[in-house]
Amino acid sequence: MEQQRSIVIIGGGIIGCTTAYYLSRHPSYSSSTTSITLLEASARGTAQGASGKAGGLVAKWAYPRELVDISYPEHVKLAEEHNGTERWGWRFVSCGSWEGHGEDLGDSGSGVGKGGQKKSLEKTLGLEDVSTTREETGLPDDLLWVKEELTTSYSPMSGPDGSAQVHPYLFTTSMLELAKEKGVLAVAGSATSIEREGRRVTGVSYRDSENQTKTIPATHVILSAGAWSPSLLPSLPISATRAHSVTIRPNSSTTIAPYVLFTEIRLPSNASTMHSRIVTPEIYARPDGEVYACGPGDDSRLPKNVDDVVVDLAACESVRDHVASISQELRDGEVEKRQACFLPVVSVGGGPIIGEAEKIAKGLYIATGHTCWGICNAPGTAKAMAELLFEGKIRSGNLKKLSPSRFL
Ligand SMILES: Cc1cc2nc3c(=O)[nH]c(=O)nc-3n(C[C@H](O)[C@H](O)[C@H](O)COP(=O)(O)OP(=O)(O)OC[C@H]3O[C@@H](n4cnc5c(N)ncnc54)[C@H](O)[C@@H]3O)c2cc1C
Repeated sequence: MEQQRSIVIIGGGIIGCTTAYYLSRHPSYSSSTTSITLLEASARGTAQGASGKAGGLVAKWAYPRELVDISYPEHVKLAEEHNGTERWGWRFVSCGSWEGHGEDLGDSGSGVGKGGQKKSLEKTLGLEDVSTTREETGLPDDLLWVKEELTTSYSPMSGPDGSAQVHPYLFTTSMLELAKEKGVLAVAGSATSIEREGRRVTGVSYRDSENQTKTIPATHVILSAGAWSPSLLPSLPISATRAHSVTIRPNSSTTIAPYVLFTEIRLPSNASTMHSRIVTPEIYARPDGEVYACGPGDDSRLPKNVDDVVVDLAACESVRDHVASISQELRDGEVEKRQACFLPVVSVGGGPIIGEAEKIAKGLYIATGHTCWGICNAPGTAKAMAELLFEGKIRSGNLKKLSPSRFL
Protein backbone atom coordinates (compact mmCIF):
# COMPACT_ATOMS: atom_id res chain seq x y z
CA MET A 1 0.00 0.00 0.00
CA GLU A 2 1.23 3.50 -0.83
CA GLN A 3 2.40 5.66 2.06
CA GLN A 4 -0.12 8.37 3.04
CA ARG A 5 1.50 11.75 3.69
CA SER A 6 0.06 14.85 5.20
CA ILE A 7 2.56 17.69 4.77
CA VAL A 8 2.15 21.06 6.47
CA ILE A 9 4.40 23.95 5.45
CA ILE A 10 4.60 26.82 7.96
CA GLY A 11 5.27 30.18 6.28
CA GLY A 12 4.27 31.58 2.91
CA GLY A 13 7.47 33.38 1.97
CA ILE A 14 9.57 32.36 -1.00
CA ILE A 15 10.94 29.30 0.80
CA GLY A 16 7.52 27.94 1.79
CA CYS A 17 5.82 28.71 -1.54
CA THR A 18 8.66 27.34 -3.68
CA THR A 19 8.79 24.22 -1.51
CA ALA A 20 5.04 23.75 -2.07
CA TYR A 21 5.70 24.01 -5.83
CA TYR A 22 8.55 21.44 -5.85
CA LEU A 23 6.64 19.00 -3.62
CA SER A 24 3.66 19.21 -5.97
CA ARG A 25 5.92 18.56 -9.01
CA HIS A 26 7.83 15.60 -7.52
CA PRO A 27 7.25 12.37 -9.49
CA SER A 28 6.12 10.57 -6.29
CA TYR A 29 3.50 13.20 -5.48
CA SER A 30 -0.11 12.28 -6.00
CA SER A 31 -2.99 14.25 -4.51
CA SER A 32 -4.72 10.97 -3.67
CA THR A 33 -1.95 9.88 -1.29
CA THR A 34 -0.42 13.20 -0.22
CA SER A 35 -2.02 16.35 1.12
CA ILE A 36 0.04 19.55 1.21
CA THR A 37 -1.15 22.55 3.24
CA LEU A 38 0.66 25.88 3.39
CA LEU A 39 -0.07 28.01 6.44
CA GLU A 40 0.58 31.76 6.30
CA ALA A 41 0.12 34.16 9.22
CA SER A 42 -0.36 37.40 7.31
CA ALA A 43 -3.95 38.60 6.83
CA ARG A 44 -2.77 40.02 3.49
CA GLY A 45 -1.67 36.73 1.94
CA THR A 46 1.71 35.35 0.98
CA ALA A 47 5.02 37.17 0.30
CA GLN A 48 4.35 40.01 2.74
CA GLY A 49 7.80 39.72 4.37
CA ALA A 50 11.33 39.75 2.94
CA SER A 51 10.19 37.59 0.03
CA GLY A 52 7.96 40.35 -1.31
CA LYS A 53 10.30 43.21 -0.51
CA ALA A 54 13.74 41.98 -1.58
CA GLY A 55 15.84 43.11 -4.54
CA GLY A 56 15.54 39.89 -6.51
CA LEU A 57 19.09 39.20 -7.61
CA VAL A 58 19.85 35.61 -8.63
CA ALA A 59 23.60 35.12 -8.96
CA LYS A 60 25.95 32.27 -9.82
CA TRP A 61 28.44 33.84 -7.39
CA ALA A 62 26.05 33.87 -4.41
CA TYR A 63 26.61 31.57 -1.43
CA PRO A 64 26.67 28.90 -0.13
CA ARG A 65 28.10 27.46 -3.33
CA GLU A 66 26.60 23.96 -3.02
CA LEU A 67 23.08 25.42 -2.81
CA VAL A 68 23.62 28.02 -5.54
CA ASP A 69 24.78 25.22 -7.86
CA ILE A 70 21.34 23.63 -7.55
CA SER A 71 19.36 26.87 -7.43
CA TYR A 72 20.71 28.84 -10.38
CA PRO A 73 19.93 26.23 -13.09
CA GLU A 74 16.54 25.62 -11.46
CA HIS A 75 15.73 29.34 -11.75
CA VAL A 76 16.61 29.18 -15.45
CA LYS A 77 14.41 26.08 -15.89
CA LEU A 78 11.45 27.54 -14.01
CA ALA A 79 11.60 30.72 -16.10
CA GLU A 80 11.66 28.69 -19.33
CA GLU A 81 8.88 26.36 -18.27
CA HIS A 82 6.44 28.98 -16.93
CA ASN A 83 7.33 32.05 -18.99
CA GLY A 84 9.09 33.72 -16.06
CA THR A 85 9.91 36.70 -18.28
CA GLU A 86 6.26 37.70 -18.41
CA ARG A 87 5.13 36.17 -15.17
CA TRP A 88 7.81 37.26 -12.67
CA GLY A 89 10.12 39.67 -14.48
CA TRP A 90 12.91 37.14 -15.10
CA ARG A 91 15.86 38.41 -17.08
CA PHE A 92 19.64 38.14 -17.15
CA VAL A 93 21.27 41.29 -15.87
CA SER A 94 24.71 42.90 -15.50
CA CYS A 95 25.91 43.55 -12.02
CA GLY A 96 28.68 45.82 -10.81
CA SER A 97 30.15 47.73 -7.94
CA TRP A 98 30.03 51.49 -8.35
CA GLU A 99 32.10 53.93 -6.32
CA GLY A 100 31.90 57.68 -6.40
CA HIS A 101 30.58 60.88 -4.89
CA GLY A 102 27.03 61.90 -4.12
CA GLU A 103 25.75 65.36 -4.93
CA ASP A 104 24.24 67.58 -2.32
CA LEU A 105 20.44 67.42 -2.53
CA GLY A 106 19.93 70.18 -0.02
CA ASP A 107 18.64 68.37 3.07
CA SER A 108 19.70 64.83 2.19
CA GLY A 109 18.31 63.23 5.35
CA SER A 110 20.27 61.93 8.28
CA GLY A 111 20.53 58.41 6.88
CA VAL A 112 20.08 57.09 10.38
CA GLY A 113 16.41 56.49 11.00
CA LYS A 114 15.53 54.63 14.19
CA GLY A 115 16.33 51.03 14.98
CA GLY A 116 19.91 51.29 16.18
CA GLN A 117 23.18 50.00 14.81
CA LYS A 118 23.44 49.68 11.00
CA LYS A 119 24.59 46.37 9.59
CA SER A 120 25.79 45.36 6.14
CA LEU A 121 23.51 42.89 4.32
CA GLU A 122 26.77 41.19 3.23
CA LYS A 123 25.66 40.25 -0.25
CA THR A 124 29.12 40.73 -1.79
CA LEU A 125 30.73 38.24 0.65
CA GLY A 126 30.36 35.41 -1.85
CA LEU A 127 32.30 37.26 -4.49
CA GLU A 128 35.77 35.83 -4.68
CA ASP A 129 37.12 37.77 -7.58
CA VAL A 130 35.94 41.37 -7.94
CA SER A 131 37.47 42.75 -11.12
CA THR A 132 39.68 45.78 -10.94
CA THR A 133 38.41 48.98 -12.46
CA ARG A 134 38.63 49.34 -16.20
CA GLU A 135 40.33 52.18 -18.03
CA GLU A 136 39.35 55.48 -16.47
CA THR A 137 36.18 54.80 -14.44
CA GLY A 138 35.17 51.64 -16.27
CA LEU A 139 31.56 52.85 -16.48
CA PRO A 140 29.76 50.82 -19.20
CA ASP A 141 28.58 52.81 -22.24
CA ASP A 142 24.91 51.99 -21.68
CA LEU A 143 24.88 52.74 -17.96
CA LEU A 144 23.60 56.27 -18.39
CA TRP A 145 21.39 56.56 -15.32
CA VAL A 146 24.27 57.27 -12.90
CA LYS A 147 26.27 60.44 -13.39
CA GLU A 148 29.58 59.89 -15.10
CA GLU A 149 31.16 62.93 -13.48
CA LEU A 150 30.43 61.54 -9.99
CA THR A 151 31.88 58.13 -10.77
CA THR A 152 35.27 57.15 -9.38
CA SER A 153 35.14 53.56 -10.53
CA TYR A 154 32.85 50.87 -11.85
CA SER A 155 33.94 47.24 -11.54
CA PRO A 156 31.84 44.54 -13.20
CA MET A 157 31.00 41.80 -10.72
CA SER A 158 29.33 39.69 -13.35
CA GLY A 159 28.01 40.00 -16.88
CA PRO A 160 24.53 38.80 -17.82
CA ASP A 161 25.83 35.21 -18.06
CA GLY A 162 26.35 35.08 -14.28
CA SER A 163 23.49 37.11 -12.83
CA ALA A 164 19.76 37.29 -13.34
CA GLN A 165 16.80 38.78 -11.55
CA VAL A 166 13.22 38.09 -10.63
CA HIS A 167 10.52 40.28 -9.15
CA PRO A 168 10.44 38.53 -5.75
CA TYR A 169 6.75 39.16 -4.96
CA LEU A 170 5.64 37.92 -8.39
CA PHE A 171 7.95 34.90 -8.25
CA THR A 172 6.76 33.87 -4.78
CA THR A 173 3.05 34.26 -5.51
CA SER A 174 3.46 32.47 -8.87
CA MET A 175 5.11 29.50 -7.14
CA LEU A 176 2.09 29.17 -4.86
CA GLU A 177 -0.42 29.61 -7.71
CA LEU A 178 1.33 26.85 -9.67
CA ALA A 179 1.40 24.61 -6.58
CA LYS A 180 -2.33 25.19 -6.02
CA GLU A 181 -3.01 24.00 -9.57
CA LYS A 182 -1.69 20.59 -8.43
CA GLY A 183 -3.78 20.48 -5.27
CA VAL A 184 -1.79 22.39 -2.62
CA LEU A 185 -4.10 24.08 -0.11
CA ALA A 186 -3.24 27.54 1.25
CA VAL A 187 -4.66 28.34 4.69
CA ALA A 188 -4.62 31.72 6.45
CA GLY A 189 -3.56 31.30 10.06
CA SER A 190 -0.70 31.69 12.47
CA ALA A 191 0.94 28.47 13.64
CA THR A 192 1.12 28.35 17.42
CA SER A 193 2.76 24.96 17.97
CA ILE A 194 4.15 21.93 16.24
CA GLU A 195 2.40 18.95 17.83
CA ARG A 196 4.33 15.77 18.63
CA GLU A 197 3.68 12.38 20.14
CA GLY A 198 6.83 10.91 21.54
CA ARG A 199 9.52 11.71 18.98
CA ARG A 200 7.23 12.15 15.94
CA VAL A 201 5.37 15.16 14.64
CA THR A 202 1.60 14.70 14.55
CA GLY A 203 0.28 18.10 13.48
CA VAL A 204 0.35 21.87 13.55
CA SER A 205 -1.94 23.98 15.71
CA TYR A 206 -2.79 27.47 14.51
CA ARG A 207 -5.02 30.45 15.17
CA ASP A 208 -7.31 31.36 12.32
CA SER A 209 -8.59 34.83 11.40
CA GLU A 210 -11.45 34.48 13.93
CA ASN A 211 -8.93 33.66 16.65
CA GLN A 212 -10.11 30.04 16.81
CA THR A 213 -7.45 27.45 17.52
CA LYS A 214 -7.40 24.56 15.08
CA THR A 215 -5.05 21.65 14.39
CA ILE A 216 -4.03 20.20 11.04
CA PRO A 217 -2.84 16.59 11.38
CA ALA A 218 0.59 16.08 9.81
CA THR A 219 3.07 13.32 9.10
CA HIS A 220 5.63 15.89 7.92
CA VAL A 221 6.03 19.53 9.01
CA ILE A 222 8.28 21.99 7.17
CA LEU A 223 9.23 25.04 9.21
CA SER A 224 9.95 27.89 6.77
CA ALA A 225 8.74 30.90 8.72
CA GLY A 226 11.82 33.02 8.00
CA ALA A 227 12.85 35.27 10.90
CA TRP A 228 9.82 34.00 12.89
CA SER A 229 10.95 30.35 12.84
CA PRO A 230 12.35 30.40 16.43
CA SER A 231 8.88 31.34 17.75
CA LEU A 232 7.93 27.71 16.97
CA LEU A 233 11.32 26.14 17.67
CA PRO A 234 13.18 28.33 20.18
CA SER A 235 16.47 26.39 19.91
CA LEU A 236 16.87 27.50 16.27
CA PRO A 237 19.81 29.94 16.06
CA ILE A 238 18.02 32.46 13.84
CA SER A 239 18.07 36.20 14.40
CA ALA A 240 16.25 38.94 12.49
CA THR A 241 17.69 41.94 10.65
CA ARG A 242 15.34 44.69 9.47
CA ALA A 243 16.04 46.50 6.20
CA HIS A 244 14.29 49.35 4.42
CA SER A 245 13.73 49.75 0.72
CA VAL A 246 11.96 52.00 -1.76
CA THR A 247 10.77 51.61 -5.32
CA ILE A 248 11.11 54.56 -7.66
CA ARG A 249 9.31 55.08 -10.95
CA PRO A 250 11.49 57.24 -13.24
CA ASN A 251 9.48 59.39 -15.60
CA SER A 252 8.23 57.47 -18.60
CA SER A 253 10.54 59.03 -21.20
CA THR A 254 13.63 57.65 -19.39
CA THR A 255 15.30 54.38 -20.37
CA ILE A 256 16.89 52.58 -17.44
CA ALA A 257 19.47 50.06 -18.70
CA PRO A 258 19.39 46.70 -16.88
CA TYR A 259 21.98 46.85 -14.12
CA VAL A 260 22.19 45.89 -10.47
CA LEU A 261 24.59 48.19 -8.66
CA PHE A 262 26.31 47.73 -5.32
CA THR A 263 27.31 51.30 -4.53
CA GLU A 264 29.76 53.03 -2.27
CA ILE A 265 28.75 56.69 -2.23
CA ARG A 266 30.78 59.35 -0.47
CA LEU A 267 28.21 61.94 0.57
CA PRO A 268 29.11 65.64 0.67
CA SER A 269 30.53 66.89 3.98
CA ASN A 270 28.01 67.77 6.61
CA ALA A 271 28.22 71.54 7.25
CA SER A 272 28.15 71.18 11.04
CA THR A 273 30.64 68.31 11.49
CA MET A 274 32.69 68.84 8.29
CA HIS A 275 32.72 65.04 7.92
CA SER A 276 31.68 63.21 4.80
CA ARG A 277 30.01 59.82 5.12
CA ILE A 278 30.01 56.71 2.98
CA VAL A 279 26.71 54.95 2.31
CA THR A 280 26.19 51.71 0.40
CA PRO A 281 22.69 51.34 -1.05
CA GLU A 282 21.99 48.58 -3.59
CA ILE A 283 20.10 49.59 -6.73
CA TYR A 284 18.14 47.20 -8.99
CA ALA A 285 16.72 48.28 -12.35
CA ARG A 286 13.64 46.14 -13.13
CA PRO A 287 12.18 45.17 -16.51
CA ASP A 288 8.93 47.11 -15.97
CA GLY A 289 10.92 50.34 -15.58
CA GLU A 290 10.69 50.37 -11.80
CA VAL A 291 13.92 50.86 -9.82
CA TYR A 292 14.30 49.21 -6.42
CA ALA A 293 16.83 50.43 -3.84
CA CYS A 294 17.62 49.18 -0.34
CA GLY A 295 19.70 50.43 2.54
CA PRO A 296 21.58 48.76 5.39
CA GLY A 297 20.07 46.44 8.00
CA ASP A 298 19.31 47.39 11.59
CA ASP A 299 18.56 45.48 14.79
CA SER A 300 15.02 46.69 15.43
CA ARG A 301 12.82 44.15 17.29
CA LEU A 302 10.87 41.58 15.33
CA PRO A 303 7.09 42.05 15.82
CA LYS A 304 4.82 39.03 16.37
CA ASN A 305 3.31 39.19 12.89
CA VAL A 306 4.67 40.30 9.52
CA ASP A 307 1.72 42.70 9.18
CA ASP A 308 3.02 44.67 12.18
CA VAL A 309 6.48 45.46 10.78
CA VAL A 310 7.12 49.16 11.41
CA VAL A 311 8.37 51.22 8.47
CA ASP A 312 10.66 54.07 9.50
CA LEU A 313 9.92 56.67 6.84
CA ALA A 314 13.14 58.57 7.64
CA ALA A 315 15.15 55.45 6.77
CA CYS A 316 13.26 55.15 3.45
CA GLU A 317 13.87 58.83 2.74
CA SER A 318 17.60 58.28 3.30
CA VAL A 319 17.70 55.40 0.82
CA ARG A 320 15.93 57.58 -1.74
CA ASP A 321 18.21 60.55 -1.11
CA HIS A 322 21.37 58.47 -1.31
CA VAL A 323 20.51 56.95 -4.68
CA ALA A 324 19.15 60.28 -5.94
CA SER A 325 22.52 61.86 -5.09
CA ILE A 326 24.16 59.95 -7.97
CA SER A 327 21.31 59.80 -10.49
CA GLN A 328 19.17 62.53 -12.03
CA GLU A 329 16.70 59.89 -13.27
CA LEU A 330 16.14 58.62 -9.73
CA ARG A 331 16.01 62.15 -8.34
CA ASP A 332 13.27 63.08 -10.81
CA GLY A 333 11.38 59.81 -10.34
CA GLU A 334 8.42 59.20 -8.09
CA VAL A 335 8.80 57.06 -4.96
CA GLU A 336 6.03 54.46 -5.17
CA LYS A 337 6.78 52.15 -2.22
CA ARG A 338 8.39 52.75 1.15
CA GLN A 339 8.77 49.46 2.97
CA ALA A 340 10.65 47.40 5.55
CA CYS A 341 11.10 43.70 6.21
CA PHE A 342 13.14 41.25 8.27
CA LEU A 343 15.60 38.79 6.84
CA PRO A 344 16.40 35.58 8.70
CA VAL A 345 20.06 35.32 9.68
CA VAL A 346 21.80 32.26 11.17
CA SER A 347 23.21 33.83 14.32
CA VAL A 348 26.06 31.31 14.69
CA GLY A 349 27.22 31.87 11.08
CA GLY A 350 26.84 29.64 8.03
CA GLY A 351 23.49 28.38 6.89
CA PRO A 352 20.84 28.35 5.67
CA ILE A 353 19.54 25.43 7.72
CA ILE A 354 18.03 22.76 5.49
CA GLY A 355 16.98 19.23 6.36
CA GLU A 356 15.22 17.01 8.88
CA ALA A 357 15.63 17.89 12.57
CA GLU A 358 15.50 14.24 13.64
CA LYS A 359 17.08 14.98 17.01
CA ILE A 360 13.99 17.00 17.88
CA ALA A 361 11.29 14.99 16.16
CA LYS A 362 10.94 12.61 13.26
CA GLY A 363 9.06 14.31 10.44
CA LEU A 364 10.17 17.83 11.42
CA TYR A 365 11.98 19.62 8.58
CA ILE A 366 13.68 23.01 8.67
CA ALA A 367 14.20 25.36 5.71
CA THR A 368 15.23 28.78 6.90
CA GLY A 369 18.12 31.18 7.60
CA HIS A 370 18.71 32.26 4.01
CA THR A 371 20.05 35.73 4.98
CA CYS A 372 20.50 37.95 1.91
CA TRP A 373 20.27 35.09 -0.64
CA GLY A 374 16.84 33.54 -0.11
CA ILE A 375 15.45 34.66 -3.48
CA CYS A 376 18.41 33.15 -5.27
CA ASN A 377 18.49 29.96 -3.20
CA ALA A 378 14.79 29.15 -2.91
CA PRO A 379 14.58 26.67 -5.83
CA GLY A 380 17.61 24.66 -4.60
CA THR A 381 16.20 24.58 -1.07
CA ALA A 382 12.77 23.55 -2.31
CA LYS A 383 14.09 20.84 -4.63
CA ALA A 384 16.20 19.42 -1.80
CA MET A 385 13.19 19.41 0.55
CA ALA A 386 11.04 17.59 -2.00
CA GLU A 387 13.75 14.93 -2.49
CA LEU A 388 14.18 14.52 1.24
CA LEU A 389 10.47 14.08 1.90
CA PHE A 390 9.68 11.78 -0.99
CA GLU A 391 12.97 9.88 -1.41
CA GLY A 392 14.51 10.07 2.05
CA LYS A 393 17.65 11.82 0.85
CA ILE A 394 18.84 14.91 -1.01
CA ARG A 395 20.00 13.76 -4.43
CA SER A 396 20.72 17.04 -6.22
CA GLY A 397 23.82 17.95 -4.24
CA ASN A 398 25.68 17.52 -0.99
CA LEU A 399 24.01 19.82 1.56
CA LYS A 400 25.34 18.08 4.69
CA LYS A 401 26.97 21.34 5.79
CA LEU A 402 23.49 22.84 6.07
CA SER A 403 21.92 19.97 8.03
CA PRO A 404 19.94 20.94 11.17
CA SER A 405 22.11 18.52 13.20
CA ARG A 406 24.97 21.02 12.80
CA PHE A 407 22.95 23.90 14.21
CA LEU A 408 20.61 22.41 16.83
C1 LIG B 1 16.44 44.53 1.63
C2 LIG B 1 16.60 43.09 1.22
C3 LIG B 1 17.03 42.78 -0.06
C4 LIG B 1 17.21 41.45 -0.43
N1 LIG B 1 17.62 41.16 -1.70
C5 LIG B 1 17.80 39.88 -2.08
C6 LIG B 1 18.24 39.57 -3.39
O1 LIG B 1 18.44 40.46 -4.22
N2 LIG B 1 18.47 38.26 -3.70
C7 LIG B 1 18.28 37.26 -2.80
O2 LIG B 1 18.54 36.11 -3.12
N3 LIG B 1 17.80 37.52 -1.55
C8 LIG B 1 17.58 38.80 -1.17
N4 LIG B 1 17.14 39.08 0.10
C9 LIG B 1 16.93 37.99 1.04
C10 LIG B 1 15.56 37.32 0.90
O3 LIG B 1 14.57 38.32 0.82
C11 LIG B 1 15.29 36.39 2.08
O4 LIG B 1 16.37 35.51 2.29
C12 LIG B 1 14.04 35.55 1.80
O5 LIG B 1 12.98 36.37 1.40
C13 LIG B 1 13.64 34.76 3.03
O6 LIG B 1 12.49 34.06 2.68
P1 LIG B 1 11.65 33.25 3.75
O7 LIG B 1 10.56 32.57 3.03
O8 LIG B 1 12.59 32.40 4.57
O9 LIG B 1 11.13 34.35 4.78
P2 LIG B 1 9.96 35.42 4.68
O10 LIG B 1 9.86 36.05 3.38
O11 LIG B 1 10.10 36.30 5.88
O12 LIG B 1 8.67 34.53 4.86
C14 LIG B 1 8.33 33.92 6.08
C15 LIG B 1 6.83 33.84 6.14
O13 LIG B 1 6.45 33.07 7.27
C16 LIG B 1 5.28 33.64 7.80
N5 LIG B 1 5.13 33.24 9.20
C17 LIG B 1 5.88 33.65 10.25
N6 LIG B 1 5.45 33.08 11.38
C18 LIG B 1 4.40 32.28 11.04
C19 LIG B 1 3.53 31.43 11.78
N7 LIG B 1 3.66 31.28 13.09
N8 LIG B 1 2.55 30.78 11.11
C20 LIG B 1 2.41 30.92 9.77
N9 LIG B 1 3.21 31.71 9.02
C21 LIG B 1 4.20 32.38 9.66
C22 LIG B 1 5.50 35.14 7.65
O14 LIG B 1 4.30 35.85 7.76
C23 LIG B 1 6.17 35.21 6.29
O15 LIG B 1 5.24 35.36 5.25
C24 LIG B 1 16.95 40.40 0.48
C25 LIG B 1 16.48 40.72 1.76
C26 LIG B 1 16.30 42.04 2.13
C27 LIG B 1 15.79 42.35 3.50
